[in-house]
Amino acid sequence: MDFNLRTPGPTPVPEDILQASAAQMINHRGPEFKSLIESVTSKIKEVFQTSNDLYILTSSGTGALESAVVNTISPNDSVLSISVGVFGDRFSQIAHMYGADVTDLKIEAGKAVDPEQIRKELNSNPKISTVIVTHNETSTGITNDLQSIAQVVKGEFDKLLLVDSVSGMGSIPCPVDSWDLDVVASGSQKGWMAQPGLAFISVSKEAWEAQSKATTPRFYFDWEKAEQYLQRGQNPWTPAISVMYAMDKSLTMILNEGLGAVYERHQTIATKTREAVKSIGLELFADEKYASNTVTAVKAPDGINCGELLSNLRTKYNIVLAGGQAYLEGTMFRIGHLGFVPEKEIDEVIDALKKELGR
Ligand code: PLP
Repeated sequence: MDFNLRTPGPTPVPEDILQASAAQMINHRGPEFKSLIESVTSKIKEVFQTSNDLYILTSSGTGALESAVVNTISPNDSVLSISVGVFGDRFSQIAHMYGADVTDLKIEAGKAVDPEQIRKELNSNPKISTVIVTHNETSTGITNDLQSIAQVVKGEFDKLLLVDSVSGMGSIPCPVDSWDLDVVASGSQKGWMAQPGLAFISVSKEAWEAQSKATTPRFYFDWEKAEQYLQRGQNPWTPAISVMYAMDKSLTMILNEGLGAVYERHQTIATKTREAVKSIGLELFADEKYASNTVTAVKAPDGINCGELLSNLRTKYNIVLAGGQAYLEGTMFRIGHLGFVPEKEIDEVIDALKKELGR
């Protein structure tokens, strides 16, 4: 069944990419796969705007976050975690789980972090070696000012900076080298217009230095293994080959369109979505100054049961939106507009909301 799938990942996969991913399997230790991984890796690096190392992991985005932690952080290392929502909390939880001494800077949901708050934390705790942060917080529809955050974390304090840009990279600007980001994670089911199954992680020179000292046990996500195998044109483990085919195609489409045009397209559709939401009397959840161009979070109007609203949209209109996650459940719903987003699909969402809320 075809839905108007407007969740912030997985996102609809364009027909050409679906076709590409249906190709027959190949030997992942053979020359065809070598060409494929080399092509996909180099194109992802163009989107990351980096000459750092970059690895393709067969996992969801969370696997890439876990790989960032286990490769760079040792038990008892002091880590500053900046969380503006559920995914920031998850990144922190991973660091906690592997024994880091985590200071949690938790920002009210719907707001972005003020870099001054980070400056204060780093001044008061010189033991902190690593800062972890979410670029684009999918649970609240907030984009942090990552460039300014990096200026403080890297420029002023020279700490290691690990970034979750799972739902940002490829849709909104995140130039890894010019912003000096040590480790950046993303996932194939977001703005990349491909199916879930692959995650991407870039690794700076400083991150490699941290990796060489980090004592956390690691196996599946060991970057050293990823590097050794990539030199032979392989992944250490059996990769999600079909998603690699999809990525090869989607990256060609993204790079042909041009990154500037892709960012502009996301900005245009996000502005349209926010304005349309407000025009039918709904309130945005996120501080509009930092509202994300990939997902719009909408406050549940008083007296409206969010679960029921989303269920009605699905059964009556074939529209699938996302609800609030974890402690945000019932307080909001979210409209995804990343990757492949025909404008008419947003119009349909707004029309259906108008009808349902008017009832
Ligand atoms: N971080 C952010 C900002 C996300 O949006 C997501 C997925 O929605 C994740 C992390 C986790 O990714 P995954 O669900 O692919 O593990």
